[in-house]
Amino acid sequence: MGTPAQRMVAEQLRPHGVTDERVLQAMASVPREEFLSPRMRRHAYEDRALAIDCGQTISQPLVVALMIQAAAPQPDDVALEVGTGSGYAAAVLSRLCRRVLTVEREAALAEQASATLRRLGFDNVEVAVGDGSLGWPADSPYQVILVAAAAAVLPQALIEQLAEGGRMVIPVAVSPEEPQDLRIYTRRAEGVTYRSMFPVLFVPLRPG
Ligand code: SAH
Repeated sequence: MGTPAQRMVAEQLRPHGVTDERVLQAMASVPREEFLSPRMRRHAYEDRALAIDCGQTISQPLVVALMIQAAAPQPDDVALEVGTGSGYAAAVLSRLCRRVLTVEREAALAEQASATLRRLGFDNVEVAVGDGSLGWPADSPYQVILVAAAAAVLPQALIEQLAEGGRMVIPVAVSPEEPQDLRIYTRRAEGVTYRSMFPVLFVPLRPG
């Protein structure tokens, strides 16, 4: 019973470590099929990453939910996402914080994501075109930063744009032969620390 997104929550997310009710509710409320091409729509609620344009992917729902849960967005937070892709993760995130700024290097994807978000009424998301590894200094600092592409080296600009108390979730490519290490970095007055979450496979973060 319920919508496909509600079933996805019950079957893929709740049993696999997503416990934050706000995150579950946000995941249940965003129509994932709207962020896909007509050809891919019938796969929208499968438990995996899916192809979008420009050789990129929309992440597996469970990974989106676990990243957002770890970053713990609060209603007044301003969040930065690097790697807009389809706009899906930005849409989910936007339900949980005040404002989302998302940066995409492929202009075609940015344009499409922006149109989808506007059409669906996600009015607190802004899409920008550029090299997200440089962050988006104008609106910094951010309480939450989500990076949806794997970094070979930790982008220093993103650390600098993280607010004190802020959380950044980022896949780090430790070696080319191994899966990436999904990490959460936390900035405190004393400095920046991180904890490894789990291994992941993201597309690479490419220079602008
Ligand atoms: N969050 C997306 C999935 C993104 S896939 C979603 O929900 O659909 C990763 C995206 O990062 C791709 O669209 C890719 O073009 C983008 N990307 C790669 N390197 C980048 C960079 N340096 N700056 C901004 N975007 C980048």
